[in-house]
Amino acid sequence: MTASPRRLTVLGSTGSVGISTLDVVARHPERYRITALTGNGQIDRLVEQCQRFLPAYAVLADPERLPLLRDRLASAGLERIKALAGPEALEMVASLPEVDAVMASIVGAAGMRPTLAAARAGKQVLLANKETLVMAGQLFMDAAREGGATLLPIDSEHNAIYQCLPQPFTGEARRGVRRILLTASGGPFRTWETAQLHSVTPEQAVRHPNWSMGRKISVDSATLMNKGLEVIEARWLFDLERERISVVVHPQSVIHSMVEYVDGSVLAQLGNPDMRTPIAYGLAWPERIDAGVAPLDLFAVARLDFEAPDLVRFPCLGLAFAALERGGVAPAVLNAANEVAVEAFLTGRLGFTAIAELNEAVLARDWSGYDALQLDGLAAADAEARRLARARLD
Ligand code: NAD
Ligand code: MG
Repeated sequence: MTASPRRLTVLGSTGSVGISTLDVVARHPERYRITALTGNGQIDRLVEQCQRFLPAYAVLADPERLPLLRDRLASAGLERIKALAGPEALEMVASLPEVDAVMASIVGAAGMRPTLAAARAGKQVLLANKETLVMAGQLFMDAAREGGATLLPIDSEHNAIYQCLPQPFTGEARRGVRRILLTASGGPFRTWETAQLHSVTPEQAVRHPNWSMGRKISVDSATLMNKGLEVIEARWLFDLERERISVVVHPQSVIHSMVEYVDGSVLAQLGNPDMRTPIAYGLAWPERIDAGVAPLDLFAVARLDFEAPDLVRFPCLGLAFAALERGGVAPAVLNAANEVAVEAFLTGRLGFTAIAELNEAVLARDWSGYDALQLDGLAAADAEARRLARARLD
């Protein structure tokens, strides 16, 4: 292992992936130092994390709450931690010269600019924030290449595929791969009839059968939009055309995804559904470290099932494929509409099946006038999609 500890910024440290990241880091104090932690609402948790990991910076998304963070750090005797807030501060801690790796685990479109900043600054980017690739796939991959960044996928499916692909995945090695198979648990309503889906409550939707995750991604898993976003994420991460990306429903969530080769071989990565495995992989790459995850007990798993996804009951997956085929800003538009729809569903203003209806209506507009290769074009499409989505809620 390297002599000096690697220095990390954890964007979104107070969330589900952020907490799991710090759990793995705490198991290897000799390997990692935390340079910056960031959060949105949960100041108590951010301050607790600061006490434990003593970063140089603590950053909040919302500048209005900065005085409160400063007070809380001072009362904890942590005034030497620099407290900052706002989008520029998030981008700054994502690109600090002393930082080696950035865990991009902010949820939603809010994660895009700081993740892009890390890529431009040539960091090792541990990419959990899939929305960055959905919104700005081409722009982000170009920025990572030009900045000399190393991308390590943290989303469990993409991490599994990364582990099963030949590296480097170029030239002859690329031609040896026929397709990738993204596995999907099918979510909590996999076996429900459409009629039952109309009355799904937020509480039911966030209770995922296999994974413990933030609320937004849990709803996305229940609608299969998460798998749709992941198809788009895979398209950019691995530079694969749509025909080479398949989705397989696998309710046990033990196989995290697979790669099919032209000789008929299919390689899979298996493990317990615990994000600390892909996180530890990203943190230690190309080495392996203990993640605190229990060994996989195949006798307890006993069987592995596979089904085709049902695009009639779960139309969001089909919408994602459609957005990918349309290209341009269509994926960003779908992502924006979906963020508004999920938020409205979680706050009781939209029914579960209406999430897909709203997404479809917004995506159906003409989006040809926006430039997906410019941040301004993406931001304008994102804003217009949110406006249209909100207008449908009134
Ligand atoms: P979460 O809601 O638990 O945490 C999100 C984090 O982002 C928190 O730290 C929050 O404070 C911060 N945040 C929220 N809004 C923000 C804003 N406007 N500005 C700045 N920061 C903000 O979410 P999560 O489940 O940890 O997911 C994080 C990302 O990782 C998402 O993109 C998700 O799709 C992806 N991901 C999560 C999992 C999982 O198991 N949770 C698995 C794969 C991928
Ligand atoms: Mg995933």
